[in-house]
Amino acid sequence: MVVIGSGAGASYIYDGLTSSSFMLLKSGEPFCLIDLGLGVGRQVIERFGQFPRNIVITHNHSDHAGDLAVVLRVELAKECKSKVIAATAVTERLKQHRIAEHLEQMNAEALADWVAVDENEKTDIGFGLTIQFYQGVHSELSYGFVVRDENGHARLSYTGDSKFETDLYQNLSEADVFIMDARPKANPWHANFIEVKEWLTPNGYILGHGLTKEQAMTEYASLPLLLSNQQIKF
Ligand SMILES: [Zn+2]
Repeated sequence: MVVIGSGAGASYIYDGLTSSSFMLLKSGEPFCLIDLGLGVGRQVIERFGQFPRNIVITHNHSDHAGDLAVVLRVELAKECKSKVIAATAVTERLKQHRIAEHLEQMNAEALADWVAVDENEKTDIGFGLTIQFYQGVHSELSYGFVVRDENGHARLSYTGDSKFETDLYQNLSEADVFIMDARPKANPWHANFIEVKEWLTPNGYILGHGLTKEQAMTEYASLPLLLSNQQIKF
């Protein structure tokens, strides 16, 4: 995976930091994008030249889905209809609210292929990998996920935006690489660095922190804070 951004809710607009997102790649070829918030679309084009067909959305906040409506419309025009993969309840919100600007011209099904995944179900994302969603606790309905290989082994997980929640962390910590959303200070809708500390095993990482590279590498140098362009094998 390659980190595209690690920004928080207002980071892109007020600090020029790309929203939290990462790309899954196989042999250097991107095949699945995780979240498409403000600023992410431009970064994907600059780094990869195009979007993969699979786009996973954890929830309908602007810093996780803000670029979605434009990308879906342009990809459709290029005859590269995108596949949007999300928990069923999140899919409904995206179809009703996030892409509302297109609905007078076309319905949601014409714009993209929607893969709505129920809890306890999983869906294919390519190369024998499947994704299963786990609900977080956040100011907007939000889901984390686990990616498993064909043997059912958990390879990668991400909390999406969520406050610290033991059940969620327990489910996700089974993965070889565990990416958690956390902020420097106490926050009602996000975990903070102190709460996640004991979950930062050698393969635990923090995304969504909204810190600049300089802050991450000085003030918080002891923490595994993900930064744009960082790569992790899983
Ligand atoms: Zn959020």
